[in-house]
Amino acid sequence: MKFISQSVLMMLFLLLSFSSICQASEPENMSTEVKGKTNKSKALNLPVMKMLPINTDLLTLIAQLKEVTNNSQKIEVALAQLTLSKAPLNAAEQYLLLVAQVLLKENESGKKIDSAAIVTLLKQADKLSEKISEQQLSHPEFLQLHLLLADHYARLGKYELAYLEKKSYQKKYYIYRKNKRLAMIASLEQSFEVKGKKANNALLESQNKLKIRRVAEVQDEKSAQQDNLTLIIGTAIVFVLLFFRQLRIRNKLILLTRTDGLTGLANRSALFERGQKMVVNFTSQPTELSVLLLDLDHFKKINDNFGHQVGDEILVIVSQLVKETMRSRDVFSRLGGEEFVALLPFADSNKAKAIAMRINDKIAQYDFSEIMLQSKVTISVGVVTMKHSQITFDDLLHNADLAMHQAKEQGRNTVVCYQDIAAEQERRAN
Ligand code: GH3
Ligand code: MG
Ligand code: MG
Repeated sequence: MKFISQSVLMMLFLLLSFSSICQASEPENMSTEVKGKTNKSKALNLPVMKMLPINTDLLTLIAQLKEVTNNSQKIEVALAQLTLSKAPLNAAEQYLLLVAQVLLKENESGKKIDSAAIVTLLKQADKLSEKISEQQLSHPEFLQLHLLLADHYARLGKYELAYLEKKSYQKKYYIYRKNKRLAMIASLEQSFEVKGKKANNALLESQNKLKIRRVAEVQDEKSAQQDNLTLIIGTAIVFVLLFFRQLRIRNKLILLTRTDGLTGLANRSALFERGQKMVVNFTSQPTELSVLLLDLDHFKKINDNFGHQVGDEILVIVSQLVKETMRSRDVFSRLGGEEFVALLPFADSNKAKAIAMRINDKIAQYDFSEIMLQSKVTISVGVVTMKHSQITFDDLLHNADLAMHQAKEQGRNTVVCYQDIAAEQERRAN
């Protein structure tokens, strides 16, 4: 019976050994990760466990011992130095140091391996497990203790213990793998999260840039609209100003074409225009319109004696004197040369004659000595009053001219009414 149970245990141990060989490569790789594990664990959001720091020299030596090497003596010296110089060693370091000593013993060539001594060393190390966190113990460097124990128990024929050690190894290795997977998942999640955040940030940034560009575009559009509006208003103002300027110039030109340049009175064309309109108006209204034709006496002599300049001055003075006598509704104009015409609306022949005589006296009494040696200037005036509606302005002017010539014939400086001439002619004819 005892033999059978020992055989079963041996079988089980062999099976576990086989699976351990299959996983053997992994602990080798893991060993390098243990070195920087403390910081990494934090980064990977692993459950917070107290991890004891491990001297890197120790880890290097263990790695060297795993390889089949001939310089065991050197490593032994290094381990001894480490033990002395790096003291005090923490529990994890003491644990690994014992494991290293076992590996060293296994590597010693020529000597028979003393499994019982090795088991003793390994048990010492195992006792230190209480002071080391489970997470740290699940790392391959620590786990190899169980493999070594299993191996040496098997050598000593203690298959049951070897089996238990193998099982313990597998259990812890499973925890180690699980933690590693979790760490990887956490790391991946974190990296995805970071990537997602980065992508989100980039999106927000581009949206922000787009918004800024849109705001700038809207502002540009607004300022362009304002510029256009300003341009339109400016152009409109310029056009209005130009229009009024043009209107002013046109009115000035019209006024100039209707004004006598020397005296500032209405000129011949303005006189005819106004005269014809007045005649038409007075044809429809039963009121009277009188016309005076004034002609300076012996003006040629004045020009000859005192020059044209003086003649011009006299024309200006005479026009001013007559203008002062005019009523607001009257139209006083220069017909041409030294002849003037006054249109007197709402004035019958008596009133017109009275006005003509007043003008006559005024000019006759004016003292011209300031501008020439001859102090007196006289005029002859012909007066005509519109009596019937058939008469034209030309006829009126013609009749006034007849009366003015009559005044010249009568010795000048006098007023003659055309009606008086006509009445005399009629009387003579009868
Ligand atoms: P009368 O008494 O018969 O009217 O004689 P008069 O010399 O006044 O008339 P006449 O028709 O012989 O001469 C008119 C003169 O008026 C001739 C012309 O030189 C002058 N005269 C015409 N227009 C102007 C003018 O604008 N300025 C000056 N200084 N003289 C002018
Ligand atoms: Mg004349
Ligand atoms: Mg004259």
